[in-house]
Amino acid sequence: MKRKEIIIGQKKNIALVAHDNKKENLLEWVRFNKNTLQKHKLFATGTTGKLLEDELDSKITIFESGPLGGDQQVGSRISEGKIDFLIFFWDPLESQSHDPDVKALLRMAVVWNIPTACNRASADFLISSPLMSQKYSRSLPNYNDYRQRLKKS
Ligand code: PGA
Repeated sequence: MKRKEIIIGQKKNIALVAHDNKKENLLEWVRFNKNTLQKHKLFATGTTGKLLEDELDSKITIFESGPLGGDQQVGSRISEGKIDFLIFFWDPLESQSHDPDVKALLRMAVVWNIPTACNRASADFLISSPLMSQKYSRSLPNYNDYRQRLKKS
């Protein structure tokens, strides 16, 4: 199958999202990795974003609160190539009003092959990767074949 390469720059566009029971967990991780995170461009859903701005003492791009559409906004930015890295601490022990959006966001992360961490250990491994400070070519199927699938030959 033909593939397409998209470059993730040295400076990454990182989205951070945490469900309510996971916000403290994410804040701790952000506190620990503050210096590294400040080298990148950060995005977050509403409530997570406000907590992160206080923690980092810097402005980040904040979308709507997750249950009000924020997860979908992050997903759409991934499909547009504007977000290329996802830290998503979702809660495995509680169902959410916006579970379909959670699934959709995780799906977009896989469709567009962006680095994604859904728990602390994965986030630790991702952020300590040498690739964090390098360009990276993420390989995608050539979706043009999919887009053209119903065209008559
Ligand atoms: P929140 O949304 O940052 O507004 O709490 C997170 C989510 O539930 O997706």
